[in-house]
Amino acid sequence: MAETERARSGGMKWLTELVNEWRAAGQRIGIVPTMGALHQGHLSLVQAARAECERVVATVFVNPTQFAPTEDLAKYPRTLVADLEMLAAERVDAVLVPTEDEMYPPGFSTYVQPPEVSQKWEGAVRPSHFRGVATVVLKLLNMTRADVCYLGQKDYQQVAVVRRMVADLNVPCEIKMCPTVRDPDGLAMSSRNRYLSKDERQIGLSLSRTLFAAEKQIRSGAKNGPELSSWMREQLIASGVSQVDYAFAADADTLEPLTEVRLPLVLLMAARVGTTRLLDNLVVRQG
Ligand code: AMP
Repeated sequence: MAETERARSGGMKWLTELVNEWRAAGQRIGIVPTMGALHQGHLSLVQAARAECERVVATVFVNPTQFAPTEDLAKYPRTLVADLEMLAAERVDAVLVPTEDEMYPPGFSTYVQPPEVSQKWEGAVRPSHFRGVATVVLKLLNMTRADVCYLGQKDYQQVAVVRRMVADLNVPCEIKMCPTVRDPDGLAMSSRNRYLSKDERQIGLSLSRTLFAAEKQIRSGAKNGPELSSWMREQLIASGVSQVDYAFAADADTLEPLTEVRLPLVLLMAARVGTTRLLDNLVVRQG
């Protein structure tokens, strides 16, 4: 594919034409939606798509509708040149880098009302977040007519929201969740990690440390959900995080908090370290 076709904005015709060609040839299309500032976590999704689909489209778009006015949209890291190099090295077939205007042209006014599972945790802290996520993901799925969409477990609730949305709205796309990629010290990779100072990063390690310790407690027979949740919160605070937004043991499917520990469950947490918000989670299954 010509380099110019990989990352061109200025109208979506090129994408529609490519997608039509691919579909006419019966090729399976995988999409990896991202906000850029790519790291190995993103690339693991591209690699999964590359292994399973004949055609892979990556998208790079810092989606304004999923940021509240008080959030970090303006300072969100943007590293497009490096991103495109990384994606080319992974042999993606196309990179969609739409402008804000292409995604939300004047007059745009239709939004997805996100499903029930969007209401708690992230949705409670960031009330309009999942509306923006659901809307942009649906648009990207429609634009690429992807057969499979690859999302990271790092954003566990996001996967639950998108899965419910495609089921509820009959979107013919399979949603695949890929494991969280961590740095060797355990910190879940995130584009926002680059905001962390050296000391903050040390504090940030308390999220994964606490998740793995909580899993151990569950494996040794801990049964009380609220006690486990309070213990996780205390660990984070004791390690110096500035604020715990939530730290909970929840049902792995419904994301409802558990009174009694029951597998499979997900340990979900979000905390602020300085001004940086970090998310992490761990699924605990039988065996
Ligand atoms: P973002 O660019 O943060 O919107 O993320 C784009 C996609 O990459 C989402 O599906 C994320 O869940 C996924 N992702 C982000 N960080 C990681 C990670 N550390 N491991 C696996 N997937 C990730």
